[in-house]
This record gives sequence, C-alpha cells and structure tokens, in this order.
Amino acid sequence: MEKDLLNKKSSGWLNIDNDLKEKIFDFCDGYIDFLNNCKTERETSKFIINKLENNGFKNINDVNSLNSGDKVYMLNRNKSVYAAIIAEDNLTQGVNLIGSHIDSPRLDLKPNPLYEDAKLALFKTHYYGGIKKYQWTTIPLAIHGVVIKPNGTKVEVVIGENENDPVFTITDILPHLATEQYEKKIGKAIEGEDLNLLIGSIPSNTDNIKENIMKIINEKYGIDEKDFYSSELEVVPAFKARHLGFDKSMISAYGQDDRVCAYTSLQALLNASNEKRTIVSIFADKEEIGSVGNTGMCSQMFDLFMNELLTKKNENTPGALNKTYCNSIMLSADVGAGMDPNYQSVSEKNNTSHIGFGIEINKYTGSRGKSGASDANAEFVAKIRNIFESNNVKYQVSELGKVDLGGGGTIAYILADKGMDVIDCGVPVISMHSPYEVTSKYDIYEAYTGYKAFFETNEK
Ligand code: MN
Ligand code: MN
Repeated sequence: MEKDLLNKKSSGWLNIDNDLKEKIFDFCDGYIDFLNNCKTERETSKFIINKLENNGFKNINDVNSLNSGDKVYMLNRNKSVYAAIIAEDNLTQGVNLIGSHIDSPRLDLKPNPLYEDAKLALFKTHYYGGIKKYQWTTIPLAIHGVVIKPNGTKVEVVIGENENDPVFTITDILPHLATEQYEKKIGKAIEGEDLNLLIGSIPSNTDNIKENIMKIINEKYGIDEKDFYSSELEVVPAFKARHLGFDKSMISAYGQDDRVCAYTSLQALLNASNEKRTIVSIFADKEEIGSVGNTGMCSQMFDLFMNELLTKKNENTPGALNKTYCNSIMLSADVGAGMDPNYQSVSEKNNTSHIGFGIEINKYTGSRGKSGASDANAEFVAKIRNIFESNNVKYQVSELGKVDLGGGGTIAYILADKGMDVIDCGVPVISMHSPYEVTSKYDIYEAYTGYKAFFETNEK
C-alpha cells in the first residue's frame, strides 16, 4: 500500500535495460554533433531548416494551399523558425504546440570593437543574456557570425573551432596581484567593460598593432573596420561538447540552454505522427533578453505564420486565429535548474529536480510571489501527467530554486497570454548559463519521448 501512496523519486538509470541505454546513448551522439555545429541562433536555424527540408517540409511562401499531411515552415530573418504538420481537424479546434529557444548567453562584439591598448590588440564585447562574468575569462573562445556589407554581401565568420584555427581569450589578474580583486563582491570582480577579447600582438611596420590586425582581418574576410557596424559577431566558448563522467552518462557543453530542448523537440517533430491534430513547433530567438524584437517570441511573426496556416487551409474566418490559440495546448520547452551537489542550499529539497530523474515539469516560473509567472492550471497539469504516464515517460515536477532566492521566466507566458494552455517542460541543467553546462543523457531522451507523445496526443 505504502508504495502506491507515496511518490518515490528515483534515478531513471536504476534497473534500466541495455536496449534502452543503447538507444539513449545513440540519440545523444546525434545531439553532441548538433551542439558542435550549432553555437548561434543563425547556425541552429540553418541546421533546423536543413533537417526540415530533408524531411519533406516546404517553405510556407512556396505553398498555395494546405491539406492534411502537408508539412511547412517559416524562417524568420535567419534567426527563428516556425514549423507545422497539418492534420485533419480544423486548426480552430486547436493545435499541439512545442516552443523552445535557440539563442544562448554569450558575448557580442560592440559596433566599434577593434582597439589597441598596452601594445596589444583587443575586441570590445557586450554581453548578451544573464552571465556570471568571471566564468568567461581565461577560457578558449571562438567568434561566430555574419558581417553584411552595405551592398548586401554577407560574409560568414566561424573562427576558433578547427584544430588549426587560432582561438581568443579574455585575460584575468594573476593571483599574486589580485589582493584588491579578492576584496570585491563576485559580481563586481569582473565588470562588463573588462570583457575584452585578446586578438593580436604583432605591430605593423609603422608600429601600429590595430592596423596590422585589421589588415589580417581584411585579407581573410574582405571587410574594413566600418563593416563591423553591420555585423553580428558572437563570442562563444571554443570547446566541444563532451561525454561527461566515467559512465559517460552526462553531457557537458556550451549552449544547452535551450538547444537541448530545441534538438529534442525537433527530433520529436520529425518522428511524430498525428492525423487529427495539427502539430506546430517554435524555435525562438531573443528569449535570453526578454523575447523582444522581431525574432523574439513577443513579435507578430508567429501570428503571421499561424494566419498563413489558416488562410492556406481555407479556415481564415473572422476570429479564427483567436479561436485557434484558445483551443491549443503547448509545452514551453525550456531547461530547468538541476540540483547541484555543491550548492544544495539554493534548492528546496522537496521541489527540486535531479539530473537523471527524467523530464522536468515546472507548473510555474516567475520570482518572489510568483511575479511574472505563467501558472499552468491543475486541469492542464493533469492532462500532461496523463500523456506522460500512459506513454511511460519519466518526469519530475519541480520549481526553480528556493522561493526568495531569485527566479526566472520563459516564453510560456507569451503564448498563455494568447489563450493557450501552457506549461514549462524541459531538461534539468547544472551550471546553467555557464560556458559549460551539464545535462543527463537520460533526461534528454525522456524529453524526446515526452515531446513526441505530446505531439501525438488527441486528448483535449
Ligand atoms: Mn532557456
Ligand atoms: Mn536561459
């Protein structure tokens, strides 16, 4: 009796059979490849479009009408993607939607990045998203992104990833001379204007280091200093995603928030089938800075995509979009905070998630008194439990740390504001937002199976 009454939480690896373990490890090999090829939102969008096209998805602009079984996507400014598989039911009866984000915390180059100081050449950076600045010093860094010239020519930049490429780094004070730095609070020890990237040291014949480095950049990329104005160059960790632990049960890598949910929901989309309800996927940009701008979730671009679906499926009567939203269900696929054995005091033991214990459901996020929270209705939580339980998806329900210690948000509220039932559901991460985030392969696979089951449900 006791066994049935109490919720005994346990590791998913416990008594796992070899077949499943092999499946999990194989699936995660694909994920590791993905992480090593997709370190920015642009690279991730390109990867997603490529996969979609290879699986029969067509650009919605090239399609005049939509019928059951059709697969379409919209690429928004090379930085976010929406995709759908059309089914028999009217869209206004609701869709099954999963939304993740493909931007990650990083350092962007400033519009005037290049300068010379103390006989060295450096790039000024401006951090993007919530980073702990000290984590970004003294590690190998790569530069990824684009430079667009006034005539529209696009120069793509990826440097620091191949063994033969140079890398870049941000220096820090040697301990011998750090007496004053040690006295500072950790948030002030390294400041935003200290995050300057070391990029060269050989001067030109006229003893000008800046000039010599610009010459090298010009020879390699055909750009001049002014072209940085119209660039998006992102500084990201240069190291590769790796198996973590003697048992190789975990993955350590940059950018797992939220590419772990992007990859698992993409795989779920490619493998799901639902003849009745249309399934829709969002891969959003700008979540880490508040979902703002025309590639962020708050923009009208997603409404446009849904309107296109309604029009091309011949359903676009007045109010159809609102009706579609209000009848839809959504998983906001974003990462949660896994319990860190070194810093257990920030988690509340009964309501934390453990890596390796399955996909994590957060009924609400927000901070303090649930401020800014999208709080899922109990009825909807029950529906999600039923989907997971009837498909043998192992899940855990938790919060993001102790009540008054901080908080956070996702894209959940944006779609909930449109009238959908939404809940946060993703992979727990340790060292979130650091250059080297940790996840469990078990949870990654459960996210994939959980997302697939959600896409395939016909429950309302
Ligand atoms: Mn996230
Ligand atoms: Mn984040």
